[in-house]
Amino acid sequence: MTEQQLNDAVHRLTRNHRVTHTDPHTGKTSYLTVLSLFTQLRQEQASGNRRSGGSKSTGSRSPIAINAVTLWSEIRETLSTRFIAFTGKDDTNMLPETKLQKWAVSTLADTTGRSIETCLRTATTWATSIESLISPTPRIEVRGACPACAATHAWTWDQDEYVRNTAITATRHEARCGACGTTWAGADIHDLAETLGQAA
Ligand SMILES: [Zn+2]
Repeated sequence: MTEQQLNDAVHRLTRNHRVTHTDPHTGKTSYLTVLSLFTQLRQEQASGNRRSGGSKSTGSRSPIAINAVTLWSEIRETLSTRFIAFTGKDDTNMLPETKLQKWAVSTLADTTGRSIETCLRTATTWATSIESLISPTPRIEVRGACPACAATHAWTWDQDEYVRNTAITATRHEARCGACGTTWAGADIHDLAETLGQAA
């Protein structure tokens, strides 16, 4: 079971793979073949360079591109460390894809299953991080004071720095206060909207 999960995670990170796509409007499900997540992460960094008119300055890069650079360097460092741990030396010419595949194979020799667990947890974290970086759930900033804690603003950690947002942010289906953590869903969203509307 775990070995299969690990194979799936490594496959998604290193090879073109099929994903289920649900149309947000019609709810219809289809299958798409997408590039490996490592390839998508590389492209995300390159697209940031293009958006800033070819400038090498990180100051003009998009936040997503900066996050992609940070995440990619973290992944490569971890893979090098792991690769050295089971081979005794690094190979700087080897692709990160190959290092991850070799790391996954090497974990099978550990009969306690602990190495597979570590590799699976790491690969899953990377896959989730890359996916949310590439297609983040958009959140709308909602102005007004939170009815639960009265905060109007909240700070969130965005990679390397704190960013100031409105306290309440919302998706199509839920609203949340970033200061106290209160969430609203379903009919409660309408009550929240009314409360904020009356206060405004
Ligand atoms: Zn609150």
